[in-house]
Amino acid sequence: MEALLERRYGKYPDESSGPVLDQLVWFLLSTRTTVENCDAAYGALRERYPTWAAAAEAPPEYLGECLRPAGLWKTRAANLRSSLAAIRERFGSESLEELRSWTDAECEAFLRSLPGVGLKVARCVLAFGLARPSFAVDAHIWRVTRRLGWHSLPGEAPSERGADLLQELARGSRDILSLHVNLIRFGREFCPSGEPRCGACPVAAGLGCPGAILGR
Ligand code: SF4
Repeated sequence: MEALLERRYGKYPDESSGPVLDQLVWFLLSTRTTVENCDAAYGALRERYPTWAAAAEAPPEYLGECLRPAGLWKTRAANLRSSLAAIRERFGSESLEELRSWTDAECEAFLRSLPGVGLKVARCVLAFGLARPSFAVDAHIWRVTRRLGWHSLPGEAPSERGADLLQELARGSRDILSLHVNLIRFGREFCPSGEPRCGACPVAAGLGCPGAILGR
């Protein structure tokens, strides 16, 4: 499956040389919106506030003007301000670079202590920002992997136990970051939450898929 996805979508580049905090803020804005809207909000934020210290000092309504494209701007502005304040308190500045010397478990626990940061966002920061063998499970990955028979757990969104189970499975892959990104791309293209496109799906043609047989 991993090889099939890489043939179709390629490998995802390592982005971990950039500031870790940039990744955290982007993923904070990425929940419950599209990538395009997240990019628009993030771009507006960076344009108005070139440093995170400047964003931390900004009144919530000013932040909100930037965050509006992503929706839920009041909540996002409050979470961003509180997270930046907590990061400054812990590290002395608006930077997460010290996490590079922490263990995966320590990083995940600290990130999850920040307002608005759940398991998925924390594991995305670990994977994209810190190049750790972390596997974030979103609704696409949860649905696609169930249809593929990787798990049989219920629900539209992953439970914590389910996310841990899939992370353990994904750690057997050659490139855990590409697997994460490519499963999402695959889910959007062939296996959406509505009617899956099994007739066109390369998995159905090649590897077989229990979801195609059972219609799940
Ligand atoms: S065969 Fe159908 S259910 Fe299975 S992964 Fe492809 S689109 Fe999804």
